[in-house]
Amino acid sequence: MSAGITVRCDRTGQYGSCPAQLLTDTTDLAEAHAAAERRGWATGGPYYCPRHSGRPATTAAVVPLHLRENR
Ligand SMILES: [Zn+2]
Repeated sequence: MSAGITVRCDRTGQYGSCPAQLLTDTTDLAEAHAAAERRGWATGGPYYCPRHSGRPATTAAVVPLHLRENR
């Protein structure tokens, strides 16, 4: 198996939990965290996606799902 760690946003609100998740290509937790941090995720405690971490994303590789669906 070469499946990597999936980092999921832990933010919950009045509409339920955030659906954001990030699939990494590593099974090493520290590497997965580093990869997530490079994409604007917060991994210091609960995981937060770029939208909830308050940090700017540092790559353009992540496209929000709703933008794809509105094409
Ligand atoms: Zn989120």
